[in-house]
Amino acid sequence: MYRIYTLLALLVFFINVGFSQDLKLCKTPEMNKLMQEKHPEMKQERIDLEKFTKQYIANKNITDEVYVIPIVFHIVHNNGTENISKEQILDAVRILNEDFRKQNADTTQIVSAFKSIAADSYIEFRLAKIDPDGNCTEGITRTQSVLTTNAGENVKYLAPAWPRDKYFNVWVVKSVDGAAGYAYYPSDWLDPEVDGVILNNTYIGSIGTGTYTRSRALTHEIGHSMNLMHPWGNSNDPGLAENCYDDDEVEDTPNTIGNTTCILTAESCGSLDNVQNYMEYSYCTKMYTYGQKDRMRAALNSYTGDRYYLWQADNLVATGTNDGYISMACIPTVEFGINYTNVCADYLVQYNDLSYNAEVDSSWSWNWSFPGGIPSSSTEQNPLVKYSSGDSYDVSLTVANSTGSNSLSKSAVVSVFNTDSGESAPVFQGFESSSFPTNTSDAEKNWFIESGSDQTWYRTTYASASGNASLVLRNNYIYSGTKNSFTSPNIILGNNTISATLTFKVAYARSSISSTDYLKVYVSPNCGRTWHLRYARSGATLATNGGVYVTNAFIPDAEEWRQDNVSLAGYADSTMMRIKFECTSGDGNYLYIDDIDLTIVTSDQSEEEIIQSANVYPNPFNNSATISYSLNQVSDVSIVIYDIAGKQIGFIQKTNMVGNHEIQVAEIADIKTEGIYFVNIKINDYSLTRKMIKIE
Ligand SMILES: [Zn+2]
Repeated sequence: MYRIYTLLALLVFFINVGFSQDLKLCKTPEMNKLMQEKHPEMKQERIDLEKFTKQYIANKNITDEVYVIPIVFHIVHNNGTENISKEQILDAVRILNEDFRKQNADTTQIVSAFKSIAADSYIEFRLAKIDPDGNCTEGITRTQSVLTTNAGENVKYLAPAWPRDKYFNVWVVKSVDGAAGYAYYPSDWLDPEVDGVILNNTYIGSIGTGTYTRSRALTHEIGHSMNLMHPWGNSNDPGLAENCYDDDEVEDTPNTIGNTTCILTAESCGSLDNVQNYMEYSYCTKMYTYGQKDRMRAALNSYTGDRYYLWQADNLVATGTNDGYISMACIPTVEFGINYTNVCADYLVQYNDLSYNAEVDSSWSWNWSFPGGIPSSSTEQNPLVKYSSGDSYDVSLTVANSTGSNSLSKSAVVSVFNTDSGESAPVFQGFESSSFPTNTSDAEKNWFIESGSDQTWYRTTYASASGNASLVLRNNYIYSGTKNSFTSPNIILGNNTISATLTFKVAYARSSISSTDYLKVYVSPNCGRTWHLRYARSGATLATNGGVYVTNAFIPDAEEWRQDNVSLAGYADSTMMRIKFECTSGDGNYLYIDDIDLTIVTSDQSEEEIIQSANVYPNPFNNSATISYSLNQVSDVSIVIYDIAGKQIGFIQKTNMVGNHEIQVAEIADIKTEGIYFVNIKINDYSLTRKMIKIE
């Protein structure tokens, strides 16, 4: 039985981590509704466009002329996998064109009832070869920003749209807030700067971060841009019975309530559903109908939203998308990255050329400048550089090919730390200084806050475990999945350190059962170059307020702080340690940190000092607690636990070697009742008593 359960548990685990859930495909109806509230005139405009569309189709104006549309992809990334390759974009354009020209291989799988109405829309997309300034382009722009997570209209201003009467704009991001993506119906009231499609990168193409099943999302969204609605009507609630009374204004698409699964026999409004229609949410879509083709071509013949201008012959010439256009060689757009942004002095870092907009060939050359680095310049594509003293350093790169050259300079690309300066252990951070994270007297003792959003860790005097201040992260104002961290300066432990111990105080409340805020503490033995996870608690196990859900701002009282411990076993000989606290927000309430306490035991400390290393954590505790202490000589240790009345309820005695030791409270006493207890720890001739609290 045990084996079966283990196997099952493993299976469930792999299913959960192996396949991320498909998102709600789009939120186009919501976004258009929002826009209509801003511009009430859009309502009449929709009616007028509908009238035009019906008339255009009735007049039998539909031709089989191929409409070529110039397209540009704006990739907004934060140097992660969302910075997708040119190949993935090319794959997305291939799929788009197969779908709009009914050349997709899976047309053979269209169910027989709909085979005869599956249409070639005679629409083709071509990556722009000339940009709005008349320069050579590959039809892809790349912009770095943290806003790529849970993105929306904000990224469209960071990576500006190219004129929508000349190019169809697609923004590619790490994630879109609340859906895979969205688009806008044609409108003159819409800000032209936001017109186009925005899509999660894992829904672009079928290679790289994309997948075959998700790759039709772009076909779906561009359908919206060409005035197609969902087959169940202009809402985002597929599956509702009332959708049978709503329509997509397309003659040959059967009435449906909408499908979110691929059940090809689904009959929702008295007839077989066209589950495989690109405008469905079934994730098995393969076709547009003739009616949808007509509707899209009508939209492309309307001036509404400038759609008509896109495919005109003079525009194809202007954008380099006309037949037979031979692209000039583009000048590279310069971009570069680095493998580590924090390192100790004399550690090598690697710079990577990430320039784009042209294929690398033998004419390319690179000219790097590394002021303060060794070497201080390089002509390699991906050079290795080190820095001999602590500071932050600027970098610039010029890239040239046969057509021309471009340059890029960035400041403070890498932070270098001296291995013999920083904070000397022991270190206590209680956030009492109002200048935190800056140390006004010694920059080598600065702490660092790294934000993944506009809300991040900040010092507050509303709550503290001791003194007047602590550090807080207001999770309820931060998108789920966003990481915010703060990092210590270099901590010098010293040569005669035998063991190091890190404790801190935490206070946190959940907002609901689904709060999943995740606190992690990492230790780096090399100035922040690499990090090792040493502590992780989330949701219910992170909560310190007895598990009550708090919907208003959580402000802990004295009893709602817990002391936690981070094991530093194995790090005692680190000469350049750094500590990082990182929270991944998960729709919970405020998280506070206070009294970060890094203590050390050294070989020359007296017994009186040694005893101070003894600690109990977590405190308060509910299930189990640990007693820890460190020794710099072979010692006799005895531990006695008393209840609040002073009655001895447990005792242990042993002889321990040099180093750090941990004993579970449960090994000494069986504590079942809530309340206050005392632990008396005696090392040789010195003793110390710590209070500990058992909670539900
Ligand atoms: Zn949609």
